[in-house]
Amino acid sequence: MSGTLIIVSAPSGTGKTTILRRVMSAVENLAFSVSHTTREPRKGEIDGTDYWFVDRPRFERMIDNGEFLEWAEVHDNYYGTALEPLRKKLDKGYDIVLDIDVQGAAIIRRESRLPAIHVFIAPPDLSELEKRLRGRGTEDEATIVKRLKNAAQELKSCDAYEYLVVNDRVENAAQVLSGIIYAERARSRKTMSGQDFVGSGS
Ligand code: 5GP
Repeated sequence: MSGTLIIVSAPSGTGKTTILRRVMSAVENLAFSVSHTTREPRKGEIDGTDYWFVDRPRFERMIDNGEFLEWAEVHDNYYGTALEPLRKKLDKGYDIVLDIDVQGAAIIRRESRLPAIHVFIAPPDLSELEKRLRGRGTEDEATIVKRLKNAAQELKSCDAYEYLVVNDRVENAAQVLSGIIYAERARSRKTMSGQDFVGSGS
């Protein structure tokens, strides 16, 4: 029995974190892949829940040891998905949500043989994105400018994804993403809780 990777990419400030929180609490048998990063924790972020916060030498050692399914440098920091915890959750039958950037998603598309679907979350438009990025007040001006530039670039990658969810309203976007996950389970003949029908012993 093996679950599916739900790869979700979105430019920074799209509202992805809020959408994912809703989906994680609404859909059964879903796990979140906690990435490693070298960026500083934001206020309220918890080590081991939001990210594993590590320093650059530790991250680079993990790269050298081949511990990552994928990793990338995003906004001048390293981000990566460790393979081992992912495998354990997949083996237990969980579908796993990976919140990763377009580079990481491309690596998985190219190199991984794990079952995966790719979903891109987009803001209604770029001016809305700028408004949201400034509104959350967690980044300084230089960081905002860098993230907006990256966002324009990232939006060009959305064609490579199987699904596009436009975040016009958070509730709608969360419902659409939940629907995509349920549709994927139906396609691969799983129950609502993500378990296989065949061999489930019932
Ligand atoms: P943030 O700093 O806003 O939490 O995340 C910045 C970007 O890094 C987001 O686009 C997010 O999806 C991406 N990211 C988070 N974790 C990973 C990861 O493990 N791998 C890759 N490639 N990108 C990640």
